[in-house]
Formats: sequence, structure tokens, C-alpha cells
Amino acid sequence: MDLYKSFIQNERQRKLVDLAGELADAFAKRGETYDREDEFPYENFDDIKKSGYGKLTLPKEYGGEEINLYELVMIQERLATGDAATALSIGWHLGGLMELTETRTWDEKVFRDLCKEIAVSKALINRAATEPATGSPTRGGLPQTKAVKTETGWILNGRKSFTSMARVLDYSLVSAAIGDTEEKGFFLVDHEVEGVSVEETWDTISMKGTGSDDLVLTDVRLPASSLVERDGIPVDKDLPKAWLLHIPACYIGVAIAARHYAIQFAKDYSPNSLPGPIKDVPEVQRKIGEMELELFKARQILYSVADKWVKEPAKREDMASELASVKHVVTNSAFQIVDTAMRIVGAKSLFRSNPMQRYYRDVRAGLHNPPMDDMVIGMLAKQALE
Ligand SMILES: Cc1cc2nc3c(=O)[nH]c(=O)nc-3n(C[C@H](O)[C@H](O)[C@H](O)COP(=O)(O)OP(=O)(O)OC[C@H]3O[C@@H](n4cnc5c(N)ncnc54)[C@H](O)[C@@H]3O)c2cc1C
Repeated sequence: MDLYKSFIQNERQRKLVDLAGELADAFAKRGETYDREDEFPYENFDDIKKSGYGKLTLPKEYGGEEINLYELVMIQERLATGDAATALSIGWHLGGLMELTETRTWDEKVFRDLCKEIAVSKALINRAATEPATGSPTRGGLPQTKAVKTETGWILNGRKSFTSMARVLDYSLVSAAIGDTEEKGFFLVDHEVEGVSVEETWDTISMKGTGSDDLVLTDVRLPASSLVERDGIPVDKDLPKAWLLHIPACYIGVAIAARHYAIQFAKDYSPNSLPGPIKDVPEVQRKIGEMELELFKARQILYSVADKWVKEPAKREDMASELASVKHVVTNSAFQIVDTAMRIVGAKSLFRSNPMQRYYRDVRAGLHNPPMDDMVIGMLAKQALE
């Protein structure tokens, strides 16, 4: 059964899904080893670089393919069926760049130079916005990382937590308070600059391969042009962050992998209490049907909202609650599908050698990526009461 047939709209999208599929299938073979040995999946990122996957959201004029949100969701979902941690990490890179490509709010020279680094030198970038003191930046806390103005630029000091793929990043977009003000800005930080280091603090049971370590900034001297975004600028700041749909795409990818495994298991497993495999047991069929229904619901919502973003740009400004609702519905559906898939497989799903237990741990992280469930529900209630 081709899960992409009903969503693929043209030949370009077929090629993109095939590209993501090749990478995903290679990652899936290594997933267990990396997870068991607690190692960062450098090899996955080498493959991503070689394949050109990292430049897909760049503008065409700067060497990219300028893929849109619908396409991003599709390839990220497929990639996550192989390895969710690598998919989430590269999703931050691709998604963030997609937003910059669509809004073009940075100084053009700074953006062009960054695109060149990504297209030619295969550089990787991510936003480093979370800090131990603020928790999730989406809750509005002011960063404790500080940027102080000098005659020639800025000096940054601080510590960022949860920086996905920190060990392979070439650049970070670091949020910092500007001087002693309440104003916040994002600084483009080249990891080659003195004072930038990574502390390997990521010791989790979920999404281990993201290596979301601490990024430490000690007297990091940056040029004036490094301040690429500040409160009130860019002007398109009111547009919702649609690129964050790479998050639900990732977790539903995990659910798809679990679904595939459970269905194959039901076809293959024949205990001697039955005349044939468990796929013929009505209760197992009921569970498979439930997974399919949940998957249908989640993917219809995910793809239709992404498609609306692409095809109806005039409505983008009003799509914040729709995009947030997609995150809520899809990540919770993913959670439910993995749970049902594990019930089909039974206790074998708990063995370290079984991918199901990794899906179970990984899918859990979706709850703690933005926007969090309580924020979505609060947003919907507020809107209804207005
Ligand atoms: C796998 C993974 C990868 C990530 N990658 C990145 C990355 O690359 N870059 C990055 O910047 N971040 C990243 N993050 C961080 C992520 O975006 C969140 O900032 C982080 O998970 C903390 O979320 P939290 O809800 O636990 O945080 P907290 O804000 O500390 O919240 C903890 C709990 O306290 C409560 N709470 C806290 N503040 C409030 C409030 N104001 N109002 C109501 N309730 C509140 C909530 O109930 C919440 O559940 C990543 C996270 C994960 C799990």
C-alpha cells in the first residue's frame, strides 16, 4: 500500500518522496545501533549532505529547490519513518530556512552568504532558543543570554539548552536579550568563532539521536550584521510559524513506522493456539482498523492545512490556530497509533532489539515540542470567547 499516492500532486513531489525514502531506509538499518550505543548518528548527516537534502528549502537563485510547506511535510514524514531523531533535527534546519526563503526579511547579503554556505559547503543551521531558566521560549520568557554592543558589533554570553544536532552545526540562530533591555534579538553565530562550544548534556530516553546538547557562548565576538532579527523586525513577524509543521510530520512518521511493523507482525506471527497468523483474529483486525482511522484523520488534517498555506497565501495571517491545532491533533494521534501498534505486537514490543520500544520513547517527545497542548487549547478557547 503506497501511503503517499493520494497526497502526491506531481512528478517533482514523487521524486522528493523517493529521495526522503532512500535516506529513511538507510537510517532505519542503523537506528537500533545508534540508540543502543547512545551515539550521535554522524553517518546520517553525512548522507543528508551528500544527497543535497539540506538545501531543498533554499531559494532557487541561491542553489536550492524552494520546496513549499506541503512538500516539506511530506518528505519529513517519510524521513521520520526511518529515524525520527535525525528527521526532527534536519527539520529545524529545513523549516527555519523555508521561512526565511518565503519572507526574505533578513539583510539580503547576510542571507545570500548563508545560503551559499549551505548550498556549496553543506552547512547546517538551527535555532538555539531554549534556556534552563526560560524553559520553552514559546511561553515568552526573556533569554538570560546577553548581547552587549561594542564599537564593531556584539559580544554574546550565555547557555542554550536543547540545541538539536549541536555537534554537527555550523551555525546557530541564538536568541539573546539586548543589553539590559527587555528587547530580544536573534544572532547568527558561526560555530567556528572563538568562545562557541558544545557541552554534551543530552542524556534522555527519547529522541536520543537528536543530540540536543547545550550550546555555550563565552565572550563570543560577532560583527554588527550578526543581529538578524529583533523584536518588531522583521515586519512579517505576525505571520504564524507554519514551518513548525515539520514537528507533527516527524511524529506521524514514527507512527507510520510502528503501524507498518505491527501489520507485518500480524501477518507473520502464528502462535500454535491458532490455525494461522494473528491477522485473522477479529480483535487484531479491530486494532488495525483503529490505527488506520487515526492515521487517516491525522494525515488529512496535516496535509490539508499545509496545502491551504501553499495555495491560499492571503489567508496565512489568520492560520495560527489551525496550524497549532494540527500540531495538537497529529502528535496525539501519533502517540495513540504507536500505543495500539504495541498492543498488537504484545510483549515482544518491549524488547530492546524491537524497534517498537524506540518508537514508543521517541513519539513521547512530541508533547514537549512547540506549541504545547495546553497552549493550543488555551488559544482555541480564547478565540472562541472573543
Ligand atoms: C527532542 C527535542 C528537541 C528539541 N530541539 C530544540 C532545538 O533545536 N532548539 C530549541 O531552542 N529548543 C529545542 N527543544 C526545546 C523545546 O522547544 C522546549 O523548549 C523544551 O522541550 C522545553 O519544553 P517544556 O514544555 O518542558 O518547558 P518548560 O517551559 O520548562 O515547561 C515545563 C512545564 O512547566 C509548565 N510551564 C512552564 N512555564 C509555563 C507558563 N508560562 N505557563 C504555564 N505553564 C508553564 C508547563 O506545564 C510545562 O509542562 C527541543 C525539545 C525536544 C524534546
